Amino acid sequence: MGTNPRIYLSLGQCSGSELQFVQDAINNNWVTSGGPDVNAFEIALQHFFKLPIFVTGLSSGTAAIHLGLILLGVQTGDVVLCQSMTFSASANPILYQGATPVFIDSEIQTWNLCPIALEQAIVSEMGKGKKPKAIIAVHLYGVPYQIEAVRAVADAYQIPILEDSAEALGSAYKGQKCGTFGDIGVLSFNGNKIITTSGGGAIVTPTAALKQKAVFYATQSRDDAPHYQHSAIGYNYRMSNICAGIGRGQMEVLEAHVAKRRAMHDFYADFFQNYKGISVFTVPNEDYFANYWLSAIVVDPLLANGLTRETLRLALEAENIESRPLWKPMHLQPIFEKYPYYGGSVSETLFDTGLCMPSGSNLSDADRERITKVLTAILEPFYN
Ligand SMILES: *Cc1c(COP(=O)(O)O)cnc(C)c1O
Repeated sequence: MGTNPRIYLSLGQCSGSELQFVQDAINNNWVTSGGPDVNAFEIALQHFFKLPIFVTGLSSGTAAIHLGLILLGVQTGDVVLCQSMTFSASANPILYQGATPVFIDSEIQTWNLCPIALEQAIVSEMGKGKKPKAIIAVHLYGVPYQIEAVRAVADAYQIPILEDSAEALGSAYKGQKCGTFGDIGVLSFNGNKIITTSGGGAIVTPTAALKQKAVFYATQSRDDAPHYQHSAIGYNYRMSNICAGIGRGQMEVLEAHVAKRRAMHDFYADFFQNYKGISVFTVPNEDYFANYWLSAIVVDPLLANGLTRETLRLALEAENIESRPLWKPMHLQPIFEKYPYYGGSVSETLFDTGLCMPSGSNLSDADRERITKVLTAILEPFYN
């Protein structure tokens, strides 16, 4: 370990006004789940999306994915198609519902759901007698998936999309914000995401009726009666009003955080351009706008003179700089490997060769200088 302070992969950063919102909530005794700050935070997000959609604040992004599946009617025995290359929270709620996950490979342009493998999976599963109930599509590292191609497949077979936009708040495709492309959208405000509520999430729905349903399930499914009566299974998934206060403060810096993360991407693109065999993950064309939640690189040892992702990661770690392999695909995870998988080896190859670099909005010029110096020294013996 170097004696330098650790540079982390992704840390949250406060705007300074979070404390005032939280203080006001406490002064007004709104130390509750749900409350006026949750409402205000939801409205701020709805304004941000610039579309007539409805946002419901929840306790986590994982809870939002679970509720999303419930709202789409996923039940025991159903099949749910899910992008394999993602964080496990995209897939776990399929199992919460007693449904069967079927994993799909990525395509090489956006690293997200491959529309061709998706269609193969649908046809094959329908051949087995089960039409899939939902498609979980993810915007990995804030890069939008192939919005139109995935939608075309979903519509052709009339299967709804659950859009996991946990990493993509502030990203857009053809000017429309991520989180609004699915039949239902999911956001996360976990501590390492673009903005944080310390822990929280939200579900995005196209109608007020669906929002009402989301709130109903998230607050223990209470029927309309003076006593506690339940005709559906409920959950304790509503966002805390204190957390929403933090979220209101964070909304003031959302755009700034996106700009800073994008600047980190440009920093790496600039640095690595002179190193053959190391490519920085970048959107395929101008229709795509990425928040670049995490900047990611791919190291091809054949072109990079024998340098591997792992050599680079360990050398950074020795200098107290955190980096991390890309998400390990779900079909390779011990808990999920028994489920069907469609596609080739795109996600597996990305996992073998990819690395996420320090990307936080809190990184300073001095941090970037240190990263430049360390990377230059690590790469020197491979490029001389
Ligand atoms: C963070 C994340 C989630 C889960 O969000 P939490 O708020 O941490 O529960 C889901 N999907 C993806 C792709 C994520 O990165």
